[in-house]
Amino acid sequence: MSGAPPDYHTLIVGAGFSGIGAAIKFDQAGFGDYLIVEAGDDVGGTWYWNTYPGVAVDIPSFSYQFSFEQRLDWSRTYAPGKELKAYAEHCADKYGIRPKIRFSTKVLAVEFDDERSLWRVHTDPGGEVTARFLVNASGVLTVPKLPDIHGVGSFGGAVMHTARWDHNQDLAGKRVAVIGTGASAVQVIPEIAPIVSRLTVFQRTPIWCFPKFDVPLPRLAHAAMRLPGAKALQRLISQAYVEVTFPLPAQYFTVYPLARWMESVGRAYLRRKVRDPVVRKQLTPQYAIGCKRPGFHNTYLSTFNRDNVRLVTEPIDKITSSAVATTEGASHEIDVLVLATGFQVLDSDSMPTFAVTGSGGLSLTKFWDEHRVQAYEGVSVPGFPNLFSVMGPYGYVGSSYFALIEAQTHHMLRCLDRAREHGASRVEVTEEANARYFAEVMRRRHRQVFWQESCRRANSYYFDKNGDVALRPSTTFEAYWRSRRFNLDDYRFS
Ligand SMILES: Cc1cc2nc3c(=O)[nH]c(=O)nc-3n(C[C@H](O)[C@H](O)[C@H](O)COP(=O)(O)OP(=O)(O)OC[C@H]3O[C@@H](n4cnc5c(N)ncnc54)[C@H](O)[C@@H]3O)c2cc1C
Repeated sequence: MSGAPPDYHTLIVGAGFSGIGAAIKFDQAGFGDYLIVEAGDDVGGTWYWNTYPGVAVDIPSFSYQFSFEQRLDWSRTYAPGKELKAYAEHCADKYGIRPKIRFSTKVLAVEFDDERSLWRVHTDPGGEVTARFLVNASGVLTVPKLPDIHGVGSFGGAVMHTARWDHNQDLAGKRVAVIGTGASAVQVIPEIAPIVSRLTVFQRTPIWCFPKFDVPLPRLAHAAMRLPGAKALQRLISQAYVEVTFPLPAQYFTVYPLARWMESVGRAYLRRKVRDPVVRKQLTPQYAIGCKRPGFHNTYLSTFNRDNVRLVTEPIDKITSSAVATTEGASHEIDVLVLATGFQVLDSDSMPTFAVTGSGGLSLTKFWDEHRVQAYEGVSVPGFPNLFSVMGPYGYVGSSYFALIEAQTHHMLRCLDRAREHGASRVEVTEEANARYFAEVMRRRHRQVFWQESCRRANSYYFDKNGDVALRPSTTFEAYWRSRRFNLDDYRFS
């Protein structure tokens, strides 16, 4: 190793909850020499970028927060996006993170310098920054996916993706089309339907939609939360609820087939909410629950009873300057086009959001293309020393992201502590440990909900181009436990 020390001990990419959570814990562990690079001009990540009407969390607020910074005054059982953004700001300010964030700066590419054991990080604007360690907290639902539809660029009216909502567009009285019926569409459609003159929803694959116990939390509830033991109790109940409704049914489907039992609930809900039997049939998924992220909303389905809302299931042929045309020859004239087409997710080409070149010039995209997407405990990849990811492949179990952020940050800090003890400047997971972990997830994945025959029809972003689903086949508790117990000898410290 030679040359001057790096600019920073650690560079963190992203100031969403992952970046904020990692930074807080790094500070507390005595690794305060870090820089966070954030493309947006404020903190919050998902809740900074997604401001469409109706945006809200689908996990109870009591669980969708850091265990060490629990709010007792959430306005609702499921917080709206604005409140989550405010919570992110609160965390960044309270823990003194903000001064260490370089906003409006994008990481374009990173390269590992073998000789100096550090990462060279190319940013725009800014040039090059060096850091011994790199934390990828750039998120997964980050890069909006645009539909591959002929003519989408030639539309003459306003076009907006749900993740880049244009609040200058007044939709009142306009003819609006929404393309897509995923989780964001489920939230935005009921909000805009009452104000537009006509709403045409283009659906490729219907979504399973369930009611949401979304109620305001009155002052009395906030006061009750302050009683001795109440905070811990509500957290315990909420975590248990999330565990039995998300990770357990997804990861242990063959032993706990809740998703199968829920199908009759989903169908009954459709019957109760949608009057027209033809529309109801069109809204009924032809794949099993769990193959694809479901929606939770109390008025999404009933919105299709409105006179000004039309569901179109014929494939889109093209978009012209003023209309969406279907393959059956219909032309739907519109003023505004809303793309609720989701994100580029879990694919070697789009993950992370910047090019990564590891030791000896190894490209992360190429490594994953050749070996399939994988990462030891969802955190590290052999050949990419000093690089840790929050939400790497096979890290997330499907519960609240906060549980994962805290577990994976703990994993990183154990490595950094050991490196500090040994005076090591290079930390790299061994190929053997990575292969062992990958073999383990492959061995256990047969229990997951994703391997049902009908999932092939779901058009689900869970599946990558190899047909793999990079979700961890375990409980949240196991992920937490292993972040504390994994063998540090699975890493080489030099
Ligand atoms: C509409 C929506 C609803 C959701 N609802 C839920 C839910 O109910 N429950 C749940 O658990 N999860 C939900 N999620 C997932 C959500 O993304 C996570 O819960 C969590 O917010 C992820 O935090 P993060 O910090 O890892 O990523 P993000 O919040 O995506 O933050 C990543 C940050 O990194 C920045 N960044 C990315 N690339 C670069 C780069 N190259 N250079 C510089 N900066 C970069 C981005 O600008 C962003 O600010 C939802 C996501 C969306 C989009």
